[in-house]
Amino acid sequence: MMEASKYLKQVYAKVEKANQHESEFLQAVEELLSTVEPVFEKHPEYIRENILERILEPERVISFRVPWIDDKGQYQVNRGYRVQFNSAVGPYKGGLRFHPSVNQSILKFLGFEQIFKNALTELSIGGGKGGSDFNPKGKSNQEVMRFCQSFMTELQKHIGPSLDIPAGDIGVGGREIGYLFGQYKRLKQFDAGVLTGKPYGFGGSLIRPEATGYGLVYYTEELLKEHGKSFKDQKVVVSGSGNVAQFATQKAQELGATVIAVSDSNGYIIDETGIDVDLLLDIKNNRRERLTVYAQEKDTSSYHEGSVWTYEGAYDIALPCATQNEITADLAKNFITQGVYCVAEGANMPCDLEAIELYRKEGILFGPAKAANAGGVAVSALEMSQNSQRLRWSAEQVDEELKNIMTMIYKTVSQTAKKYNLDKDYLAGANIAAFEKVADAMILQGLV
Ligand code: GLU
Repeated sequence: MMEASKYLKQVYAKVEKANQHESEFLQAVEELLSTVEPVFEKHPEYIRENILERILEPERVISFRVPWIDDKGQYQVNRGYRVQFNSAVGPYKGGLRFHPSVNQSILKFLGFEQIFKNALTELSIGGGKGGSDFNPKGKSNQEVMRFCQSFMTELQKHIGPSLDIPAGDIGVGGREIGYLFGQYKRLKQFDAGVLTGKPYGFGGSLIRPEATGYGLVYYTEELLKEHGKSFKDQKVVVSGSGNVAQFATQKAQELGATVIAVSDSNGYIIDETGIDVDLLLDIKNNRRERLTVYAQEKDTSSYHEGSVWTYEGAYDIALPCATQNEITADLAKNFITQGVYCVAEGANMPCDLEAIELYRKEGILFGPAKAANAGGVAVSALEMSQNSQRLRWSAEQVDEELKNIMTMIYKTVSQTAKKYNLDKDYLAGANIAAFEKVADAMILQGLV
């Protein structure tokens, strides 16, 4: 039998060669492989059955043309995708991202992460992701609608409530899900369970908009608790100002923290009195404005250009909720002088590999995305349950379930780290626990 480390190296070399231009996907793979060697030592059947190479190959990648007409009557075209990565534990589940940076590499990294995140929720959902390089920013509602209708005209051939259930991600919120759902219904039938993150009026779940942000804070609170701390009286910096950032800010402040910063792709706001969440929600969600408006309307705040991670003031906890690779090792170095002792990921892969290595070396408590931001997809699965039951749950009930799920995930991660003698390496704890669940399911299903 081949040795574990040799097997991992050999598979990675092959995957690297086959996906040379997919740097984000390779990064997500490398991050996983840097932690799972002990699992392969314990499970020789994983090597014998070549489980790693099978997991690294998506079950299906669909790519399609999305033609649409803009408000000037011009013909436009974008590229659409759905990556159906792994259905070992349930139907493909994961969001759609509409952003100009979207390409196959980014969607494969997101789909790959989603497999393990979803497995950690224990809610029987496989991993998938999709989206387009379409940029909804600056587009009229009608343009967004026409784009969504065209996107769904193709996507509906590949999805279904027991097959693949898309949801939102960056650039896809309630508005987009509404238009996508409307088109699905015209082409097929009213089937609430085919998309999650729906507006409440036609099958959406209460607390779904809040779920990723709240879940992040519930998870982080458990992590802090194990180390004798809590959010109370802590200074927190949040990046991003979308749905995850908004509700992470709200929940952290509810638990007694002061969130002094949020950001967008151009700059960031510092408000030492604590971010006014109602104002933030109004600016971002109702008025669809930039953060500069916050500084104009709130005189305790100031606006600064550039990354919020270049901010030099002291604080305790960092919650990156913007996008992949926003924290490089260079930026993470500031954390040490600033006194940041905990970083928990609300976005997917916001910290690059060297930043994570630095946290390990410096003993910074780390909440890895696939565990810490699983609250969104977890409540999506609860939305599916409600749709199947044809019932609506109260906000309190969903919130309670979410809290239980995040606590359970934290316990799984922490216990796995202990079981493998990995001390505070919670990235390894999350990766190993999730990998074992998926690998075991695949092995029981034979040659899949
Ligand atoms: N896009 C979210 C994530 O990264 C949610 C996916 C879902 O609800 O299916 O997990």
